[in-house]
Amino acid sequence: MRKGERTPMLEQFMFFKKQYEDAILFYRMGDFYEMFFDDAKIASEILGLRLTQRAHGKSANVPLAGFPYHQLDNYLTRMVNAGRRVVIVEQVEDPKKAKGLVKRDVVQIVTAGTNPEIIDGDRPTASRIAAVIEQSDMYGYAWADVGSGEFQAGQFDQSDLKLILSQTEPIELVIPENRRDLTSDLMENEQKLTISKLESWVWEESFAHQTLTDHFETVGLKGFGLESLDLAVSAAGALLHYLKGNLRTDPNHLTSLSKADVSGKMLMEATTRRNLELVESLSGNSRATLLAVIDKSVTVPGKRLLYMRLMEPLSDRSQIEARLDVVEELVDKQSLRFDLRDLLKQSGDIQKALARLATGRGSARDLTAIRDTLELLPEYASLLNSVYSDKLEQLQKQIDLLPDLLKRLEDALAESPPLLTTTGGMIKDGYDPKIDELREIRYNGKSWLKNFQTSERERTGITNLKISFNKVFGYYIEVTKSHMDRVPDDYIRRQTLVNAERYVIPALSEYAEKLLSAEEVIAQREHKLYLELEADALKCSHQLQQNAKILAEIDFLAGLAELAQSENYCRPLLKDDDRIDLKESRHPVVEKLMPPGQPFVPNDLTIGGDEPHIFIVTGPNMAGKSTYLRQIGLSIILAQMGSFVPAKEATIGVVDRLFTRIGALDNLAGGESTFLVEMMETASILHNATSKSLVLFDEVGRGTSTFDGLSLAWAIVEYLHEIDNLCPRTLFATHFHEMVELENHLEKVANRNVAVQEFDEKVVFMRKIIPGGCDRSFGIHVAQMAGLPPEVIERAREVLKNLEANNLNPTEPENGSEVRISTDSKRERNVALPRGHTAQLSFFDPIDTKLRHKLESIDPNHLTPLDALNLIHELKNLLH
Ligand code: ADP
Repeated sequence: MRKGERTPMLEQFMFFKKQYEDAILFYRMGDFYEMFFDDAKIASEILGLRLTQRAHGKSANVPLAGFPYHQLDNYLTRMVNAGRRVVIVEQVEDPKKAKGLVKRDVVQIVTAGTNPEIIDGDRPTASRIAAVIEQSDMYGYAWADVGSGEFQAGQFDQSDLKLILSQTEPIELVIPENRRDLTSDLMENEQKLTISKLESWVWEESFAHQTLTDHFETVGLKGFGLESLDLAVSAAGALLHYLKGNLRTDPNHLTSLSKADVSGKMLMEATTRRNLELVESLSGNSRATLLAVIDKSVTVPGKRLLYMRLMEPLSDRSQIEARLDVVEELVDKQSLRFDLRDLLKQSGDIQKALARLATGRGSARDLTAIRDTLELLPEYASLLNSVYSDKLEQLQKQIDLLPDLLKRLEDALAESPPLLTTTGGMIKDGYDPKIDELREIRYNGKSWLKNFQTSERERTGITNLKISFNKVFGYYIEVTKSHMDRVPDDYIRRQTLVNAERYVIPALSEYAEKLLSAEEVIAQREHKLYLELEADALKCSHQLQQNAKILAEIDFLAGLAELAQSENYCRPLLKDDDRIDLKESRHPVVEKLMPPGQPFVPNDLTIGGDEPHIFIVTGPNMAGKSTYLRQIGLSIILAQMGSFVPAKEATIGVVDRLFTRIGALDNLAGGESTFLVEMMETASILHNATSKSLVLFDEVGRGTSTFDGLSLAWAIVEYLHEIDNLCPRTLFATHFHEMVELENHLEKVANRNVAVQEFDEKVVFMRKIIPGGCDRSFGIHVAQMAGLPPEVIERAREVLKNLEANNLNPTEPENGSEVRISTDSKRERNVALPRGHTAQLSFFDPIDTKLRHKLESIDPNHLTPLDALNLIHELKNLLH
């Protein structure tokens, strides 16, 4: 469309569109936000809006879609969740007063990580936006949460960066404009993530440094521990710049920048969190996650902290102990816990209030949330006066009562102010003389007029003088014709009626003016005072954030204490060695979801130290192997997060990394087969496990042929056992019962199985982990329980019997392509498998093994002829 053909409105639209070509413009027009051209088409697709057309000037019809302004939040969220960037163009002058086209301007740029919903909502999860920059294989990484005001940055190599990325779970990642390739190296699951690009110059270290020091009003960045970490500074500065640009304001609630670090943390990959269903269940049952079961916190910041801590358990023993000490104290001191939780329930979400105030979305309600919470702080402080755990004591000492701010807010703010900041009702009576006067006028307007009327009657002696109101000249004095001679000089005549005259005088006009505009003036003045109070609160945002963190921490720890008591968890004893000892351990989630009347059967585990380091766990399908493995993993996570654990006793040699290879997790969308994914996860374990790690393998080698799978499983265990003296604590659940043989070969390997009892060809699961291996898989029993047709079950038993009797029919068939494994005697039917596919048979014959052992132990150089003869006898005997 040529320029001259557009309407002025479209000209204005194009002016903005040119600046934000890759974004969708939500363009305010009266009571609607409208989208034009391609934006309209995209909006109709993503938001399901009706696509219409409208003629604009001489030009062809312009595609158009729109929605009412009050639905902004809803449509914004849907748009940014679809990975789009939205630019909001508002009318910035009153359309009634506008001469010609209404002035418009960009008021906010909204992306996934800067969606106002993050600020306004009550999310118990984090919604982080991150920035990453790479240089010579090192990465600067920073993340922030505009909802909570947290801000961290650090510098990492690629493998640590991947860990921190998966731990911080950003929903938006900002990268330098010229590094489009960056994310494919890093992200496992890019689909869920919005990638945003930012001009390269913003990332320059000196500019980024300046951005940060300007924001924090500091001379340098030493205090943040980032002084020599240029890439971290780049990422943090760029991120802050990006946030300012999007939010169109200084995010003053980001009051400090802490160092992001993987040291001191127990490391887990994203797959481990997923496999163990920490915060999301694989089945979609929202109650079946660890988080759902352990969350007893009562405030949103407390829940958010719990989520974060669950994502990053610690590996530093003293830090873990510090948390456990508090949990123990709060388990012991029940009434202290109750009182604290009671206070927490009455406390407001200071983080959210600050985020709203700092980003211009605040209201007096945010200030009252701060006021009401500050009012409770002395109670927190006195409750925590005589605690014995260091951490609680420290928290108590760090509480900043902010008496000046509190007094100001108490003096100024109404008890329950409205949500709007433009209609008054926010400021308390008695705080501001001007507002009081205006309110007086508003409330007492009638009596003032009455008093005025009385005093005028007295002054003039006109007994029927009347004060009245009309729209033309407002309040006036009416005097009947009979009293005309008494009208004083200062009355100004406005109107003459048949029987009366109407006058005004300055005193009445002034008052009337005040009365009529009081409402408006009150609202304006209240807004001004509100802004002053908001600025006062924001000046204290650092201390307020500090207080918010303390309350969140107390909620987190008191929640864990509540959990420990209500669910009968025990305090784990932490050690720096490599042993784990769990007595009567339970699965925290499965035990909660058991059907009524069916108790969860606890199990023990002693692994590491002088005990075996690797357990081969066998047992039929459905016996409870996965549950056992997972409950161990979950208990370690709980313990190292600072929680008590579901067991009678627990001693835990601190784990540095927790690895899992569980189940079949397809990433078909990513073009990877199940087996490939399985092997990739296994590779990562074998490359990264250390002697302090815990490895949980639930079925390896299922995705390939039996011999392939078994061989791989075998070699993996050998590798874990032997290479570099690693031998991480490993639980290896497998359906290959041939693996139990490893116990005889490898010193630190032992067998465990899940006990079952068999009655009349039926199995009963005992759910008990016992020493020894299981030599049968009971697959047919389980198939029978699952309701397979009896013919299939019967036939399967027959085939199995043949297989076990080694009843292969290995005669080479004529076409050379098949070997028959079993003949169905009854039905004269041949069962055939493709050549090369072998039945699941034990290929590690125990006799072979014994023979080999014996032969290996012989040193021929030291044998006499007689010894040799005796040996031959002995070896021969081994064959019987
Ligand atoms: P496997 O991995 O051996 O196939 P699972 O661990 O999946 O078996 O367990 C199957 C089911 O058995 C679980 O869903 C759970 O309901 C039940 N179960 C497992 N362990 C126990 C236990 N210790 N006590 C009670 N029920 C259990």
